[in-house]
Amino acid sequence: MLAAREEATAFFSRELAPGCEGEVLDQATRLWEHLDQIKHHMATALARIEANGQLLGEGGQRDLATWMRHSFAISATQANEMATVGRTAMRGTFPDTTRALEEGELSFGEAAAVVAGVERAVEKRNSTDNPDPVLFAAKMEHGLLAFKQERPNTSVAGLGRAAHQMGARLDPNRVERDHEAAHAQRGATLSRTFGGSFLFQAWGSAADALRLEAVLESYANPHDTDDGLSRAQRDYDGFMNAVGRAQTHQECEKPSSPAALINILIPATTLAGCEGQDPATTQDGRVVPTSAVRELLGESVVRHLMVEHRTGAVLDVGHEYRIATPQIKVAAFVGHTTCAWQHGCDVPLKWTQADHIVEWWQGGRTSVENIQPLCSTHNRLKHRWGLRRDKRMWAGRQRGRSPSPAGPIPAPRPPRE
Ligand SMILES: [Zn+2]
Repeated sequence: MLAAREEATAFFSRELAPGCEGEVLDQATRLWEHLDQIKHHMATALARIEANGQLLGEGGQRDLATWMRHSFAISATQANEMATVGRTAMRGTFPDTTRALEEGELSFGEAAAVVAGVERAVEKRNSTDNPDPVLFAAKMEHGLLAFKQERPNTSVAGLGRAAHQMGARLDPNRVERDHEAAHAQRGATLSRTFGGSFLFQAWGSAADALRLEAVLESYANPHDTDDGLSRAQRDYDGFMNAVGRAQTHQECEKPSSPAALINILIPATTLAGCEGQDPATTQDGRVVPTSAVRELLGESVVRHLMVEHRTGAVLDVGHEYRIATPQIKVAAFVGHTTCAWQHGCDVPLKWTQADHIVEWWQGGRTSVENIQPLCSTHNRLKHRWGLRRDKRMWAGRQRGRSPSPAGPIPAPRPPRE
């Protein structure tokens, strides 16, 4: 081991000759791969010591991550990563990941991301829909390794996001369940202090966080690196700008154009409620519940993309159009004074959103007769109920096919406006 270290030290201590930078970078990459292999075998051996109960007696710590944190003086994240990969290899629970790591197809960090992503998804899965944790883990592992093989340049962070998306695909109800639970727990408090200041706190679902982020971002003052403002101050200013706009434009007859943009990519089949398809994601890969996308759609601009299924490459981009134009909204809302929820609702018109009576993705047209005003509560409720009904419909349709043909289910065709 010492000889290997001396050789490496000698190589990197050499005077760097002009034109040799490429070679140094190559060697550094190679060395890093060797270090990954060493770390892998070392972590496996250490996991064995932990498993046979000798870690406390010999090393003075109960678990491996704690022992590594203190003995190697590394961060908790690094220690957990190493302990996870070591235990996995020792137990043989992720055979394909361990093999890929041994063969250099995965780096140590990537292997750790795969294992952590799968374990998180297994823990959060719905055990009624997916009763067998081993089978669920195997499906996830297989899918993630295939994803990495198809897109070798995916970063470790990208792999973590892919794990989240894959979990959502294998367990589509989870995202809706989390969304519903977080929304049910929502709240905000505004408390004044004696010193003349206040504290505002709000909590809710991740889908609402997306909207809030977009608003804070778009209402923030133009970024000026010299202004010396902290991120928190910028967010505060953005928030107060949005508040100011809400106050002054409340009675506006003319609906304003959307100032805060969120880009969401959703397969047409997912939007229609078909399970087992890719989930809706933001540009940075965060999963958005289908019901939340449906809810936002009435106020959205839509663009059809044709995407190559395996690689995600965009083959064709359609033109962009607003689901409900301000003109249609004004005309459709005539005759209403409140939210048009069928069971009655007193929320005034100015706080409602445009909603398609027959859903747009089910062929409903964006015409005056097919648009109604709904308050945010009832818009949310309508889409929550509607999504459940559509999922049952798709499930019934898929069961009705015999024998089940391979290949994707044809996407529903929304009308071109
Ligand atoms: Zn309502």
